[in-house]
Amino acid sequence: MRAWLPDFTVHVARDVDDVLAHLADGDWLPLAGGTDVMVVLAAGQLPAAKYVSIWGVPGLRGIDVRDDEVAIGSLTTYTDVSQHPVLAREFPMLGVAARLSGAAAIQNRGTIGGNVANASPAADTPPALFAYGAEIELVGPGGRRRVPYADFHTGYKTTRRRPDELISSVLLPRPRPSTARRRVQVYRKVGTRKAQAIAKVGLAVAMDLEGDVVIDCGLGLSSVAAVPLVGSRTASALRGRSLADAIDDAVRALASEIHPIDDVRSTAEYRRRVAENLWRDVLEATLAGRAPIDAL
Ligand SMILES: Cc1cc2nc3c(=O)[nH]c(=O)nc-3n(C[C@H](O)[C@H](O)[C@H](O)COP(=O)(O)OP(=O)(O)OC[C@H]3O[C@@H](n4cnc5c(N)ncnc54)[C@H](O)[C@@H]3O)c2cc1C
Repeated sequence: MRAWLPDFTVHVARDVDDVLAHLADGDWLPLAGGTDVMVVLAAGQLPAAKYVSIWGVPGLRGIDVRDDEVAIGSLTTYTDVSQHPVLAREFPMLGVAARLSGAAAIQNRGTIGGNVANASPAADTPPALFAYGAEIELVGPGGRRRVPYADFHTGYKTTRRRPDELISSVLLPRPRPSTARRRVQVYRKVGTRKAQAIAKVGLAVAMDLEGDVVIDCGLGLSSVAAVPLVGSRTASALRGRSLADAIDDAVRALASEIHPIDDVRSTAEYRRRVAENLWRDVLEATLAGRAPIDAL
């Protein structure tokens, strides 16, 4: 273990304009809870750098429930997410992903914006955000813009965020209440341990059914590709079809959509088998009206 950090500079920003003025300079990087940044700094994997701390910046932390969407400020912590009553009721999978991220210290400090910006393919909230059809709001010199989260990750640890932009919030479209539909929401994470584990495979599903016909399906996966993966082709294999008829096609679609690799945490073969099995189990459990296996 290293007992020192390389030199780094932190400017504590007053407000969003102050953050943007520093990012425009080109040398500065945002620092939120620091739970990713400090690990790579301490491991000597980052050169000396200049950070603009956004931790106290007004307007970036908090959850705003609007008529048609819920806006989660980028600085909102895992603890904030998992304790919010509207998120718990309408987007319970996000709370599960938050509670499975690190342990209490990380959950009190790690932020949803940091998780998305850090862009690890193993991160826990991205699969849930994909399944819910989230958008990312960015603020930069030209003002604010929104990007569908499904288009946000462009390659290993690269995103559509420009260096002079800050993620300001994550937006979740609220589900329309319907008595005819059944909504199934499942997040499953397979790791080495039951806590403090980085996912070997993560799978998030939000599915609406009428009878056994799949009306809509959102799917996200972690640790099975170079990016947090949207299972769009897999979800398409289900939409509009009777679940009983579509399960085999949906499992084949997932098998063709994932591209797992061997690394320190697992093998490609293990990840492939587990992802396919988790997905089949979620679908078969939904059809049978039972709870899917609890992986963690
Ligand atoms: C012990 C431990 C356990 C962990 N377990 C998990 C886990 O189980 N699951 C999981 O997914 N992650 C885990 N993590 C990783 C980390 O906690 C999360 O990714 C966390 O959400 C990062 O948020 P942060 O605010 O600390 O980001 P920071 O470390 O401050 O920043 C991370 C990156 O995002 C950028 N950034 C931060 N905020 C913004 C913003 N608003 N706009 C633009 N860029 C921004 C920073 O410049 C940096 O590049 C763990 C980390 C540790 C140390």
